[in-house]
Amino acid sequence: MEVPEGGDIVHMKMIDDKLAQNLFHVDGKPHISVNQEICRKCPHKACTRVCPVDNYNLNGEEVVFAWEGCLECGTCRIVCDQGSITWDYPAGGFGILYRLG
Ligand code: SF4
Repeated sequence: MEVPEGGDIVHMKMIDDKLAQNLFHVDGKPHISVNQEICRKCPHKACTRVCPVDNYNLNGEEVVFAWEGCLECGTCRIVCDQGSITWDYPAGGFGILYRLG
């Protein structure tokens, strides 16, 4: 895990420990989709910097996306001002089950 400059390593470890308590029932059908054509033209690719579980990454200039492990926080949907991300909650019975609130 990358620790930001001046970051609190102990605090980040506690967050990782808490996230590890969660359960996921991953739906085979993604609840998020991205339009790669729009992503290629995106000037900032903010999604690659805000997802708390790093579900968006850059491979060169291409945005590589995964939905497994999604915390359903909705941050990616909010920061994408290009209209690339289609977001919905997972189907009933799928997705994250928070164990620590
Ligand atoms: Fe990442 Fe949150 Fe988007 Fe899920 S909803 S992919 S956790 S930013």
